[in-house]
Amino acid sequence: MASVDLKNISKSYGALGVIHDISLAVGDGEFIALVGPSGCGKSTLLRMIAGLEEITEGEILIGGKVVNGMTPRERNIAMVFQSYALYPHMTVAENMGFNLKLAGHSKDVITQRVAEAARMLDLGKLLDRKPSQLSGGQRQRVAMGRAVVRNPAVFLFDEPLSNLDAKLRVQMRSEIKTLHQKVRTTSVYVTHDQIEAMTLADRVVVLNQGRIEQQGTPIDLYKTPANLFVAAFIGSPAMNLIEGVVDGEGDEPAARLKDGTAIRISKNRKVTRGQSITIGLRPEHIGSVNGGDVALSGRTILVEPTGAQTHVIFEVAGEQLTAVVDGEQAVGLNSSFSASVHHERVHVFDRASGIAL
Ligand code: ADP
Ligand code: MG
Repeated sequence: MASVDLKNISKSYGALGVIHDISLAVGDGEFIALVGPSGCGKSTLLRMIAGLEEITEGEILIGGKVVNGMTPRERNIAMVFQSYALYPHMTVAENMGFNLKLAGHSKDVITQRVAEAARMLDLGKLLDRKPSQLSGGQRQRVAMGRAVVRNPAVFLFDEPLSNLDAKLRVQMRSEIKTLHQKVRTTSVYVTHDQIEAMTLADRVVVLNQGRIEQQGTPIDLYKTPANLFVAAFIGSPAMNLIEGVVDGEGDEPAARLKDGTAIRISKNRKVTRGQSITIGLRPEHIGSVNGGDVALSGRTILVEPTGAQTHVIFEVAGEQLTAVVDGEQAVGLNSSFSASVHHERVHVFDRASGIAL
């Protein structure tokens, strides 16, 4: 196992800068998720760690050693991609052992390591099959097996689950987490799916346009997003964001919305009177029975049952808000809906900079 350190990493393709001065320390055995919208530079960053992409500026260290000049093989990393790239003419066992064979390991060692990985990933019964005889999920598991047998210092994952259907994705997600809990290999996992990032990782790094917006534990990012980008990106359904201006005095500050409605905010927010702000309300914090002290009432526009919960989209002060209520609660369409939020749960951002206040 090994730590991974990125020191002031930048990457340009010609004049196009895609990664801008990223520094990141991944601890030995840690599971890190890099999450961000498509095109923000996740794969580029991962490929630089793997040695598949040249680094324009900065240093990458694995296990404390600078690896900038090393080939992918010398870095002792294993990468799992979205496409499994299994050899169609080889069996599962042969696919899993192929890299070990190339590295000159004996037949006994290969058989033993493949058996061990197969046990870990529940592939024992499939070892003699060809890839064409496997389901998508099984193929992805073989691709992971191929990475595991090499006993690498670091696992790199690039959206390994995006080709799978929703149910299988959730199942494989649990398997990857279980696998990490068993082997504890340092892992860097790239995804555009914030739920995947949150559920898997010890620490989540949010990327946007080649820069780190925030890094922290999943709960940190959810509870205290550093800025509007992270606030809007983390959480599902997404946080409600409404523009307002700071009003009220001293112990009773409020956000005055466009139509004049006042929304009380915590006195701990560092705001000044007249400041343009955006307030953020998590849908799951807007409840009709939770005893909040900021009333929000309006007509329902859309009612979306999901089973355990129902998403209610309703109009307040000319804004559309989403609330998450208990699935047992009957909510009619185009009817009046009364809810509330506690003022301490109202997020506040400076509108110009997007920074949390
Ligand atoms: P992500 O994986 O987050 O979707 P990528 O790392 O693939 O993003 O790409 C980041 C940016 O770099 C994108 O704007 C993409 O178009 C650009 N890019 C990636 N590879 C190349 C390349 N070989 N040449 C030029 N631009 C590239
Ligand atoms: Mg990518």
